[in-house]
Amino acid sequence: QQTKTTQQAKTTCPYCGVGCGVTATVEAGTLSAVEGDREHPANFGRLCVKGSALHETLGSQGRLTHPRVDGVEVSWATALSTTAERLNTLRAEHGNHSVAAYLSGQLLTEDYYVANKLFKGFLGTPHLDTNSRLCMASAVVGYKRAFGADAVPCNYEDLEEAELIVLVGSNLAWNHPVLYQRIKVAKERNPLMRLVVIDPRVTDSCEIADLYLGIKPGSDAYLFNGLLAWMAQRRRLDTLYLERHTEGFDDALAAAQQTAGSVAEVAAACDVDPERLETFYYWFASQLHVVTLYSQGVNQSASGTDKCNAIINCHLAGGKIGLPGAGPFSITGQPNAMGGREVGGLANQLAAHMDYHTPGALDLVSRFWATDSLTPILPEGPGYKAVELFEAIERGEIKALWVMATNPAISLPDAARVRVALEKCPLVIVSECAAHTDLLPYADIVLPASGWSEKDGTVTNSERRISRQRGMLPPPGEARHDWWIMCEVAKRLGFAEAFNYAHPWEIFDEHARLSGFENGLENGVDNSTVPGSPQRLFDISGLVGLGRDGYDALAPIQWPVTKAAPHGTARLFEDGEFATANGRAKLLAIKPQGPEQALSAAYPLRLNTGRIRDQWHTMTRTARSLRLMNHRAEPFMDVHPEDAHAAGVMDQGLAVLTAAKGEFRARVRVSNAQRRGEIFVPIHWTDCFTQQARSSALIDSITDPLSGQPESKHGAVALAPL
Ligand code: SF4
Repeated sequence: QQTKTTQQAKTTCPYCGVGCGVTATVEAGTLSAVEGDREHPANFGRLCVKGSALHETLGSQGRLTHPRVDGVEVSWATALSTTAERLNTLRAEHGNHSVAAYLSGQLLTEDYYVANKLFKGFLGTPHLDTNSRLCMASAVVGYKRAFGADAVPCNYEDLEEAELIVLVGSNLAWNHPVLYQRIKVAKERNPLMRLVVIDPRVTDSCEIADLYLGIKPGSDAYLFNGLLAWMAQRRRLDTLYLERHTEGFDDALAAAQQTAGSVAEVAAACDVDPERLETFYYWFASQLHVVTLYSQGVNQSASGTDKCNAIINCHLAGGKIGLPGAGPFSITGQPNAMGGREVGGLANQLAAHMDYHTPGALDLVSRFWATDSLTPILPEGPGYKAVELFEAIERGEIKALWVMATNPAISLPDAARVRVALEKCPLVIVSECAAHTDLLPYADIVLPASGWSEKDGTVTNSERRISRQRGMLPPPGEARHDWWIMCEVAKRLGFAEAFNYAHPWEIFDEHARLSGFENGLENGVDNSTVPGSPQRLFDISGLVGLGRDGYDALAPIQWPVTKAAPHGTARLFEDGEFATANGRAKLLAIKPQGPEQALSAAYPLRLNTGRIRDQWHTMTRTARSLRLMNHRAEPFMDVHPEDAHAAGVMDQGLAVLTAAKGEFRARVRVSNAQRRGEIFVPIHWTDCFTQQARSSALIDSITDPLSGQPESKHGAVALAPL
């Protein structure tokens, strides 16, 4: 608190999954400055350039401020009753499963919880998925297969305590900059700490790397299978750990040895220098305190789940998990991808880390949500994952879609097909902050939503840490909070009692109660106290009963938070007990596969897509800051000099990339950071900025069969001058 007109509030950055604490200054009704929260354990006062420009991206200009129905501005009463009526009509005509929702890792946990409860619990449809599917769905399946739960074992302090950090498919310096800064400082303090970067591109993250492996795109599983085989051959396994705490090792090793015989063979498959590869293997095997950090370069693949498990296998085989400075650590892209996973925001999940097929889960959740004397019509799941969802809309199976805080007309692969689906969908409802997006022209009902600095709730970052986002400013015009909008529609659908929340703390309290409902963990016991009741590691029942004041004052805390662990849990699996039925972690037999999008004579170049340092997603916020725009003012393509020469394109000249389903036109940046035969383009530019530089137009809608995550890192394109 400062003066009468100047106030400070602690909140959380709304961009990446690092989840930095922010101290915001509000002067005379304007958020005038931000700085890093020195007390927040994610960042201890640091902010990256995007976070430090947050106050430059606010203001009512460009915001959606009035509800609209069929293109006409209407009152909230009309918008809400029309939404309810049209949803009810379509459900009555076509069944519960004809309605669907598509959510976002930008939503707060409370918004996510209400959406999940409304659609899965009361509208009776399993078809609720999220754009987090594009970000980390493969990491989720990888953890579940290995540990029996979607549980990130590590925390950010582990990055400082590690002797070796392996960065795979992640340009941390640009995409999770504060974590990169923490590693950089830790390396300065501990000269013995090493960083290995494994990435097809030479990125800024290589600046402090001790070893760089510029692997062929998609060859990660060969590399980690090779590591497992090498550790076995050199007797570098932790046999005691394997014996006591794991299963599946023999099959995993046999598969690794079959596909990764010698270092030379693996080096050839990955197209890296054998000596450098063996140096990495030696470093990994020699150190106990190893953290492998991985993100979209691993996940966004048709075999992303297997790549995650190939990494986890090596950690289990070396006993490099459950210790300070050790573990396989998936870094999420969005601020609340984790919170969405916690409430059940993926189509295969039900709620509170229970899947549809978790024994006893349907009954448990049904009973819990029925406590308001309603009988939820829980559907049989799982529902359609993101790409499948839009295919179902295109087929005419889904008749109503409610999209919140995301833009599938841009971000999903084969976006032209998504637009056809949206065009055909009889009812498209869009809750949105920005007045101009590529999705809004397809909306029948437009609902103006509140945004960062207005919303009040919680998010969970990549290290399982729940932090508060605090509302400091009123939403502009008639914009409303997402949870409020859904509750008002739910009331008009006849579910008033179950959605009668007055404040987000009440939603959080219910979410916390559900997480601990009949869960043995709440009482600090390993096995169920209620026979047949599903056990889950995600349990925040220790946060039940905070009340509004306690919720307002909630300090960042890592789940599980239970009676047995009231101050949260920094690290998982320290006792070697996993969340599987027999308590053992599972090593998986991995058969490496290359990208599904095949190169051909017509499309001979491999396309890689990703974020740039100073922009966020489709730029609805970050493009409002001049200094952020100055970093890269226009779309571009990074091209290796020999590919540029072969195609007849010049540095700074204009060129076109052509794929089977679309084109991308932009300026060329000739760069030795690219491998020969590979091109990188940014994901951010939309038709609102330019009609010609949508990266999603170049990517086919091929997904990992286990996780449903699209193969966004491995397009096939041709390059030509414009
Ligand atoms: Fe925000 Fe991520 Fe930057 Fe932290 S590192 S300030 S969470 S964008």
